[in-house]
Amino acid sequence: MSVVAITNIGTLVSGDVDNPVLKGDTVICQDGKIRAIGGRELLAQYPECKMIDAGGMTVTPGLIDSHTHPVIGDYTPRQKMSDFIDSSLHGGVTTMISAGECHTPGRPTDPAGVKALAILASKSFNALRPGGVKVHAGAAILEKGLTEADFAEMAAAGVWLVGEVGLGSVKKSEDAVPMVKWAKKHGMKVMMHTGGTSIPGSSTVTADDVMRVAPDVVSHINGGPTAVSLAEVDRLITESDFILEIVQCGNPKVADYTARKMAGLGLLKRIILGNDAPSGTGVIPLGILRTITQLASMSGVPAEVAIAMATGNTAAAYGLNTGVIAPGKEADLVIMDAPMGSVGSDALTAIAAGDLPGVALVLIDGVVKVNKSRNTPPTAGKVTIA
Ligand SMILES: [Zn+2]
Repeated sequence: MSVVAITNIGTLVSGDVDNPVLKGDTVICQDGKIRAIGGRELLAQYPECKMIDAGGMTVTPGLIDSHTHPVIGDYTPRQKMSDFIDSSLHGGVTTMISAGECHTPGRPTDPAGVKALAILASKSFNALRPGGVKVHAGAAILEKGLTEADFAEMAAAGVWLVGEVGLGSVKKSEDAVPMVKWAKKHGMKVMMHTGGTSIPGSSTVTADDVMRVAPDVVSHINGGPTAVSLAEVDRLITESDFILEIVQCGNPKVADYTARKMAGLGLLKRIILGNDAPSGTGVIPLGILRTITQLASMSGVPAEVAIAMATGNTAAAYGLNTGVIAPGKEADLVIMDAPMGSVGSDALTAIAAGDLPGVALVLIDGVVKVNKSRNTPPTAGKVTIA
């Protein structure tokens, strides 16, 4: 039985939009899960525990990148770059969700190849977590010719994601609708590319297309990178209950519009945050922190709510047992703070002021994976591990 106690927490951000800041300065983790949240008196019950003094800094759930395009392992042929997943870990990301392994060199497009790639990526990332990051990959790309039996076979082999509809040859809604029904029937979560054409071979997708296909997640409502019109954004907000994703590698004006409109309607629980990288825009290790900071500093979203959009909202959308600081959840946690020299006095006020916070420590399943980020600016405070 391994117990880790994080003490001397200045601010405890829950990951829950409806209750974004918790009372308490101590979090107990046991065997990889969060066990208890409260005051220092909790320590009396765990005399043998490993102690992490958070130095009065802010603790948040590990960030979830809802939109990555990995291939196999921690290398992206898209930008010919290694260790992009480990670099994201140093930006506070502990979970990533693949929106399709579309950058696979020579990606097969026949049904046998589609299945093989999805099953391989799923099993490969289950067996090996780069840097410790939980990468949920094997997001099947819909190609013409797939049958219901193919979805059943993929599901039986552990595939539970359908990558952005529109990346493959299934572009028209009449082709996509039956496949999305089969995928959902077999327990899969479906994402759909929305907006202008991203890379040669993909397609332009309008709000009407999305409504007809009815995915679980509207990928990059602010464009990847080209956005739909604001009128189409309005329709997707008010005429559907789909989860809407805002990405870093998209259109910042439409991100702002979407966040303000959803806030006004009390619908921020429906927004999740992704990077959409590796992509033509590049590899952005601090992309989720950047998106949180963008929304909190420019779009009027409280910093702790923006963090919940990148943690608890995404976990709920995909059925993951992480992203929220609550008993029983996986102990994926970040200790962050105002960066040195910021006008902010802590992580949340720095974010609200537009400064990227510094990441001091990252835990995955209660195990320290990063002790001082190599990618964020240094934190004003200091962690002490006893
Ligand atoms: Zn896309």
